[in-house]
Amino acid sequence: MDETGTPEPERLDHETSSGDAPVTEFATGAFELVTVEPRVAILDALATYQAENPREPTLGFTELRERAAIEDSGNFSYHLEKLKPACIKRTDEGYSLTWSGRSLVGVLRAGVGARTTRGPVTLDATCGICGTELTASYEDRLLSVTCANGHRFPTDDLPPNAVSGRPIDEVITIQTRRTRHHLDLVREGVCPACFATVELEYEVLNSPRAAHILIATCGDCGRVSSSTIGSYLLTEPVVVAFYHDHGVDLTETPFWAVELTIADPTVHSEEPLRLSLSVERDGERLTLFVDEHARLLDSDRTTE
Ligand SMILES: [Zn+2]
Ligand SMILES: [Zn+2]
Repeated sequence: MDETGTPEPERLDHETSSGDAPVTEFATGAFELVTVEPRVAILDALATYQAENPREPTLGFTELRERAAIEDSGNFSYHLEKLKPACIKRTDEGYSLTWSGRSLVGVLRAGVGARTTRGPVTLDATCGICGTELTASYEDRLLSVTCANGHRFPTDDLPPNAVSGRPIDEVITIQTRRTRHHLDLVREGVCPACFATVELEYEVLNSPRAAHILIATCGDCGRVSSSTIGSYLLTEPVVVAFYHDHGVDLTETPFWAVELTIADPTVHSEEPLRLSLSVERDGERLTLFVDEHARLLDSDRTTE
């Protein structure tokens, strides 16, 4: 949409090549697809039908029009054509969603535009840095967990549908799993929102406490995130194994209960940057050696 509210002209992006190189073709711009109400109604009707009939998700023309509640057959047909072939495919039996169509419906149903807020809720947990109570609150798609002294634990985007109707501890478990996955992608240079390339930048913060962080910026969708070096290491097999051996399941333990996320690195060299982080459990120490992008170079387990 431009400033007058007029839909943008249809966009045709072609990126064709031979071999295994990607081929991209958008018959209709993604924003236009979801800003025209009849199209959302058609996608929604097909998704509802598919949820009821997962093995036979195909609807005929008239039934789809009725389910989408569009009276004018010409108008319905026009918008249906616009959704093909990206979001809807047609077979002899009728119409059904493509994977792109399902993905778009998933994004919409996860709560685009919903103004869900929650909390602040006091958690049965304390800040690993200062020991004060932690509280969780949800607003503008962000779930934040902070203590009274302003120490923040990973704040990440979470769709409203993940938050509605679930107890806060379940929401936090979803957030924990999702954030770990996001950090894993980001460290590999992939944006978890749009899957373009992210730039990683190492920085040392001094407030509210000294922290070594990696800032990830997506040059495509503009997503910016920053996390401590230790947070990026939670999916490393040696880290998962160390915690497992000491009775901690990292797949579901919130970030504030894992000391590695707040471990203060030791700088061994500046050029190239080489850091080490250590954590201790039951008299055993795990030391991790990493580079400027939190890539694990070496590790060591020692018993005191
Ligand atoms: Zn604190
Ligand atoms: Zn992006």
